[in-house]
Amino acid sequence: TREDVKSYLFRNAFVLLTVTAVIVGTILGFTLRPYKMSYREVKYFSFPGELLMRMLQMLVLPLIISSLVTGMAALDSKASGKMGMRAVVYYMTTTIIAVVIGIIIVIIIHPGKGTKENMHREGKIVQVTAADAFLDLISDHYFLCRNMFPPNLVEACFKQFKTNYEKRSFKVPIQSNETLLGAVINNVSEAMETLTRITEEMVPVPGSVNGVNALGLVVFSMCFGFVIGNMKEQGQALREFFDSLNEAIMRLVAVIMWYAPLGILFLIAGKIVEMEDMGVIGGQLAMYTVTVIVGLLIHAVIVLPLLYFLVTRKNPWVFIGGLLQALITALGTSSSSATLPITFKCLEENNGVDKRVTRFVLPVGATINMDGTALYEALAAIFIAQVNNFELNFGQIITISITATAASIGAAGIPQAGLVTMVIVLTSVGLPTDDITLIIAVDWFLDRLRTTTNVLGDSLGAGIVEHLSRHELKNRDVEMGNSVIEE
Ligand code: ASP
Repeated sequence: TREDVKSYLFRNAFVLLTVTAVIVGTILGFTLRPYKMSYREVKYFSFPGELLMRMLQMLVLPLIISSLVTGMAALDSKASGKMGMRAVVYYMTTTIIAVVIGIIIVIIIHPGKGTKENMHREGKIVQVTAADAFLDLISDHYFLCRNMFPPNLVEACFKQFKTNYEKRSFKVPIQSNETLLGAVINNVSEAMETLTRITEEMVPVPGSVNGVNALGLVVFSMCFGFVIGNMKEQGQALREFFDSLNEAIMRLVAVIMWYAPLGILFLIAGKIVEMEDMGVIGGQLAMYTVTVIVGLLIHAVIVLPLLYFLVTRKNPWVFIGGLLQALITALGTSSSSATLPITFKCLEENNGVDKRVTRFVLPVGATINMDGTALYEALAAIFIAQVNNFELNFGQIITISITATAASIGAAGIPQAGLVTMVIVLTSVGLPTDDITLIIAVDWFLDRLRTTTNVLGDSLGAGIVEHLSRHELKNRDVEMGNSVIEE
């Protein structure tokens, strides 16, 4: 009946609007492309999209803290220990499967043809030695483990960019004719643009979200939640505080969700307007792109849903259907942490996943579990080896799989973070790091796809962990006198 149609439309309004946004954004982008907008015009044009990014990012910090604290506090130590173990086992298993898929696919398809002479390069990267890269990304004072225990919690909430990027070895592309000094002399507004671009292109600290030390906050919030969960009456005030903080943030998310389709429309249109001409993408790079897409599809469409089905015996496609808005947001923003608020909404409201699980598992997943990134890092490294006619032996392939896993854990959930941590993988087997410039032209696109895979992996993981932990959750309900919903 008409009423049914109406209620159906209303219930699915977000998804319908979001899908429409993707389509309209794509059409709009291609329509405006011939007009060759300047860098500044593109910036203005993409402004509604940037607003969405900022609104989402704004919520990430309080969301991570309040959800982890309440998530931990709602569980007893045995349950949280078991749940944590299951989550970690899931993260590791799926990441390793992803890496293996990446390696097999790139070896079979073999997109690199042993020549890079006719390949397009974009930007430049200052040459680094293997030791430099390792020192920079791993054992320098940004070392992940040190990030895990921030000496100053307030400081951990602020931007932590490597500002002395010039001195540091790795530099994300800046065209050589755009030195800051030259730009200042030529034109002040040009300089402002260059400055914005440099700031955007600075290398964020591994394990960080928008430059915030997310990993440190994750660890602290978990410990804090654990403690107040065990405090009986004395902890009541804090438990209630974080609970209502979390609730308030989620209400803000609900508001932003109405704006999201518009933001996504402009994010996509803006990107299409400014992207490189497809003409520069040569045969090898096109093959490489196809290889990455095939690998990600195998992982996201076959492996992960199958795993979900095998563990829960439930239809994975129904579950994934409920996630559609989060997946499209990931595609639009290419940031799994900016997508986090929407992922929460989809899982809790559409898929009815227990809040104690989402609050506990999702923030950790968004920070360390990145299947798409892991797959891509291994695949891209082997592609670069192929282009260089560099024969990899078995030991080196194992090295690549280990470093790709590490690099995906270290990558922040922000746009193109995977490109930065690639340095670790390449240097571990002695491949030239400046060959990253060969794949930059298509990375913005592949980044969106791997981010979507990352978000899918985190979400299915929440479903799997919930299923495996159902007994603990029920026991806890009985203990707390909550009403128990029978399956
Ligand atoms: N953009 C990805 C994410 O946010 C990380 C990456 O660059 O691979 O999940």
